[in-house]
Amino acid sequence: MNAEIIAVGSELLLGQIVNTNARFLSRQLADLGINVFYHTCVGDNPNRLKAVIKIAEERSNLLIFTGGLGPTKDDLTKETIAKHVNKRLIMNNEALQSIELYFERTNRQMTENNKKQAIVLEDSHILPNEHGMAPGMLLEGGSHAYMLLPGPPKEMEPMFLKYGYPVLRSLLQEEDVILSRVLRFFGIGEAMLETEIEDLIDAQTNPTIAPLASDGEVTLRLTAKHKQMDTALRLLDETEKQILSRVGDYFYGYDETSLMHELIKYIKDKKLTIACAESLTGGMFQQVFTAIPGAGELLKGGVVCYTNEVKENVLNVQKTTIAENGVVSEQCARELAKNVASLMNADIGISFTGVAGPDELEGKPVGTVYIGISIKDEPVQVEKLNFGGTRDAIRVRSVKYGCHFLIK
Ligand code: ATP
Ligand code: MG
Repeated sequence: MNAEIIAVGSELLLGQIVNTNARFLSRQLADLGINVFYHTCVGDNPNRLKAVIKIAEERSNLLIFTGGLGPTKDDLTKETIAKHVNKRLIMNNEALQSIELYFERTNRQMTENNKKQAIVLEDSHILPNEHGMAPGMLLEGGSHAYMLLPGPPKEMEPMFLKYGYPVLRSLLQEEDVILSRVLRFFGIGEAMLETEIEDLIDAQTNPTIAPLASDGEVTLRLTAKHKQMDTALRLLDETEKQILSRVGDYFYGYDETSLMHELIKYIKDKKLTIACAESLTGGMFQQVFTAIPGAGELLKGGVVCYTNEVKENVLNVQKTTIAENGVVSEQCARELAKNVASLMNADIGISFTGVAGPDELEGKPVGTVYIGISIKDEPVQVEKLNFGGTRDAIRVRSVKYGCHFLIK
């Protein structure tokens, strides 16, 4: 089954909002094993929407619409589809009752045009809206199926997960089990990773292998289908093994994990504690660390040592170290890591010092970063990195590399 996601809304074309619905739905459909070949975006205009539907029908058999189910004049998705597929629009009493209840619950006055939201396509399967008013719909019409979903993500996403996903699953009319697994890599670029496993990607149909890169990381999503759960699992395992035999050095975790999650797991397992001295990252490492529940106790504390004064006075970096090497230096990173660990009485000390830009510092180019790692009485290790990219990208990558150095 091939799907096309059609986002309806002029605000998308005006750049006022980002089409997160397409992203969400694409991921869900990939999970179901449904191919998404096209994303379309069209304004609130019936003629253009009609034209889009015609094109989509030629190349896809599942058309998923988001947006334009609301009560206002510019909301015309279902009206346009009704005309196109020659179906009537009828009042759905259940939906009407639930809208009335919604107004009662939220203590607001219902207006006449709100009733419009309870009007649905004749013969469609209703997807209840538990977080808003307009119900979703699925209409099967011969060679095509049309799914209509509301625009607001906080209504659309739960509706899809609870009602849309299972209904599509049954449409697939397969008893195949579909299993997905995401492999996460760090320290290797997308192009390099793809080159290493190009032949596998090209040859594999079950599981399929889909690469994705973002924020300096690369992921591979493996999706296997089989009647038997065991076999689907085995297919995933075999392909994973093949992939990891080539690029396993860069692999760090599965599915929804992150480098920081893995670091926290590592510290917890080893019963260690950590402290952090952050210059160019300005507290970002600790922010990402503490955003993860259960991080308490593991992070002793840290110092945002942005100025030389704090590096010297709070973290005891030698004046001569700074005078001779500068703060963007291996020596400074080493002292910061060592001293923050002893100041905070932690097992691990990690330090970040570097040039985030926009201007160079101490004659060192933007993107020069030193990360120091001190573990108990072991000699302090310092890694030097040279990043490209914006100020923010340099800071985000520094944090990720810091996690990676510790867990690898
Ligand atoms: P409503 O009942 O709120 O009018 P609707 O189904 O008519 O819902 P729209 O009017 O098209 O949907 O969009 C309502 C809001 O939902 C938009 O202002 C926007 O905030 C959000 N939204 C719509 N489409 C998308 C999309 N593709 N991605 C992310 N957000 C979206
Ligand atoms: Mg609307």
